[in-house]
Amino acid sequence: MPATAEEYLPGIKWDEPQYVTPGEPHQNAPSDATILFDGSNTHAWNNAATWIIENGCLVVGKGMIHTKDTFGDCQLHLEWSSPVPADGTGQGRGNSGVFFGPYEIQVLDSYNNKTYFDGQAAAIYKQTPPLVNATKKPGEWNTYDIIWNTPRFDKAGQLTEPATVTVLHNGILVQNHFELLGDTPFNRPPRYIAHPPDLPIRLQDHRNPVRFRNIWVRKIRPIRGKQTHQPSLRDGQKVTPLHQTGKN
Ligand code: MG
Repeated sequence: MPATAEEYLPGIKWDEPQYVTPGEPHQNAPSDATILFDGSNTHAWNNAATWIIENGCLVVGKGMIHTKDTFGDCQLHLEWSSPVPADGTGQGRGNSGVFFGPYEIQVLDSYNNKTYFDGQAAAIYKQTPPLVNATKKPGEWNTYDIIWNTPRFDKAGQLTEPATVTVLHNGILVQNHFELLGDTPFNRPPRYIAHPPDLPIRLQDHRNPVRFRNIWVRKIRPIRGKQTHQPSLRDGQKVTPLHQTGKN
């Protein structure tokens, strides 16, 4: 974004997300996850030369990094921690972001740091605030568990299914199957611009040394089944099938 860009204002007066004190979640990667960062290297990422690894954490460097692999519908887990001591105010304090293609889930130090509510931690940037504010203190670790459903477009580039997202912040539901209005730029309203379903996941450089760790992702593959027998009751009575299987 050029420094001179005009800021886009959605014009909605949101209620303030209530502060909720999170519990202590702990998660290791499940066996079928793709590991994006385990503390040892940045092999899964492009443009990561200036993002340094310190004590097993990935510290934001210069420019956004993006995964070499691409992802459509997926489950993403990551952990992030805001710089200590807290430095800056509003959008200038512990700002980063998790992007699925052009769609940002905000990362921000929202612990005692007011900003516009649809721009605080776990907001869908400039579209909706989180349901509550579950941000931990700077230096402590936050978890995001994100269920992402990528938008679909037809051959003419028309939107057929919007993106939806569910987010747990420190184990607390903060986005509940939210339907995105489009992309999430700073300087204009959201809009959809056709793209393939699978895109890189990106982490934002917003000039704050936010730390990340334990990043893994699972591609969501619909379960399949095949109707091999007519459904029946225990007494052998035939039943009409309720739905087709194996169509996904
Ligand atoms: Mg951001």
